[in-house]
Amino acid sequence: MYHLIKTMCTSTTLLSAALFTLAPGAKAQELYPDGDYSSYPTYDGADLELTVDNAGTHFRLWSPKAQEARVLLYPTDRNSAATDTLTMKAAEGGTWTASVPDQLYGSFYTFQIKYDGRWLQETPGVWAKAVGTNGERAAIIDFSTTNPEGWADDRGPEVASITDAVIYEMHHRDFSVHPSSGIVHKGKFLALTEEGTTSPEGLKTGIDHLKELGVTHVHILPSYDYNSVDEANLPANQYNWGYDPYNYNAPEGSYSTDPANPATRIREMKEMIQALHEAGIGVVMDVVYNHTANNDDSNFSLTAPGYYYRHRPDGSYSDASGCGNETASDRRQMHDYIVNSVKYWAEEYHIDGFRFDLMAIHDIATMDSVAATLARVNPSIFVYGEGWTAGDSPLPVDQRALKENVAKMEGIAVFSDDIRDAVKGHYSDAKDRGFATGKPGLEETVKIGIVGATAHPQVDYTKGNNSKFAYASAPTQIINYVSCHDDLMLTDKLAISMPDATEAERQRAARLAQTIVFTSQGTPFMFAGEEVFRDKKGVHNSYKSPDSINAIDWSLKAKNADQFHYYQELIKLRKAHPAFRMTSAEDIAKNIKFDKVEEPNLISYSILNNANGDSWREIKLIFNGSDEARTVKVAKGPWLVIADDGQLCAEGLSTSAGGTLTVAPRSSLILAKE
Ligand code: CA
Repeated sequence: MYHLIKTMCTSTTLLSAALFTLAPGAKAQELYPDGDYSSYPTYDGADLELTVDNAGTHFRLWSPKAQEARVLLYPTDRNSAATDTLTMKAAEGGTWTASVPDQLYGSFYTFQIKYDGRWLQETPGVWAKAVGTNGERAAIIDFSTTNPEGWADDRGPEVASITDAVIYEMHHRDFSVHPSSGIVHKGKFLALTEEGTTSPEGLKTGIDHLKELGVTHVHILPSYDYNSVDEANLPANQYNWGYDPYNYNAPEGSYSTDPANPATRIREMKEMIQALHEAGIGVVMDVVYNHTANNDDSNFSLTAPGYYYRHRPDGSYSDASGCGNETASDRRQMHDYIVNSVKYWAEEYHIDGFRFDLMAIHDIATMDSVAATLARVNPSIFVYGEGWTAGDSPLPVDQRALKENVAKMEGIAVFSDDIRDAVKGHYSDAKDRGFATGKPGLEETVKIGIVGATAHPQVDYTKGNNSKFAYASAPTQIINYVSCHDDLMLTDKLAISMPDATEAERQRAARLAQTIVFTSQGTPFMFAGEEVFRDKKGVHNSYKSPDSINAIDWSLKAKNADQFHYYQELIKLRKAHPAFRMTSAEDIAKNIKFDKVEEPNLISYSILNNANGDSWREIKLIFNGSDEARTVKVAKGPWLVIADDGQLCAEGLSTSAGGTLTVAPRSSLILAKE
């Protein structure tokens, strides 16, 4: 139930009521009386929808129940009449084909099928790889013209284990649109290609800021073509997170400098990826195959009515996404679609990782195929997702790619809501505090986070707040975080839950919270701008809030310079020490030892045995979430003091002889021994 509520918050927010095109149980039943799709022929060829070769331009649409099908050709991306209509012929695997002997580069096309005796609306299809304004029409372009110079040699960072990654979640517009960014291409893919940009105070912004911070991967919020922002009216400065997919295989037009030119958005996205790769930073794409923005008039519905979605017994759309529909990855053609789509992004755009929205709407077999297929493209690619749904689904629980089923999924990681809610307080109650802000009783759940939800002899999962068993078989299956685009971001959560605290005290709490995340086993994940202590003015659901809420004010980097420096050192510490990046549950059980402590809001543990090849024999970590100093007994030194009283230096602040030590309020004490 918890999870259901959780993502309602993520997803219901994404779509306005206007996008719910039919009342449950009404029109759907009439349109799609046949709920048995198992007899449909399927087609997995690479030539679906469009190919261009020396023999001409070829169309192949998968639409097993169409009575007729046709292609309409257009000279422009919109507002023009069709110049030609091609009648398609029924072909193998439920497809329809048509060809012309010319290479129609520069033209646009749509498909249209006759179904149940009537012609449905035109659609760019489900495999449009290039589109014009608002994705209304698909485009025929020569993809070789979309590659920036040097693209053939472009490579993302090599990643031996996902736990080596430090993930930074960002939205194109948040990151660059504020005047203080000093960036020219504000809100665009190209923003991340600009070097040498600075804040008014002369501090680095943009891609230089990312390099300075030290993150290994950026996770970009949806960047495929989504529905909500009107690309024909970009000066209106609309904002949306983009969890309303329209064309899954083409980039979003509002992030390009010219949405009407189909090649521009592709080339500019590639330029962004290339620039990040040259900076040593990988690119993770947020993908939302679990639902579409529209129902009956989605591209799925207009090519194969009913097939791509799950339904209730009465024929209405089931709704595990909370957005009006849910897709059916358990059907062959949809399974193949998801797998081939991520493969396409990995091959054509050199994407380094994928974050699956509401992943538990998909079946385990599909996610396994996704991971296995991507590993063949590039073994450095990693995959993670939200291991929950936003509503019930006809898909049996044991087949869902749930957090609780992650041990059954090789090469897939899930977000740990355990550590998130335990450290900073529950997401659903703004005022609720967590371990790092003085609420007692959450120590065991924080420990679940520390061991990456793997089995550990000293962690009692029955005392866990969210999960009651060690659901991860390895820390490589866990993403640790305390803040993301959803819900109150950390700065706002602290402001609302600690109303009497000073900003300095809240910054201390943020440091403690992130120190727990970044030293825990699993993969750390942070939300853009936390490192400069930005806020979103208390808006917990800013999916379409204006720039005044979402944009990062880069002047904060000078104002909160100490905070930025702390994050830098924290990331440096993690990257320098493999002890924080173990890859097996066995290693964690063997090398992590918790100390017996009696006080609430106090956790003390050691990482022993030069864990995972670390240069440090022992690392002692003590977290004090209370607002009082605590006294602890530590073995005799000499120790190198890494963190103390709200300060952290990866190479050491000072030395200590050990013995009885004080842990300052709301801070961590980290000691290391060679
Ligand atoms: Ca769009």
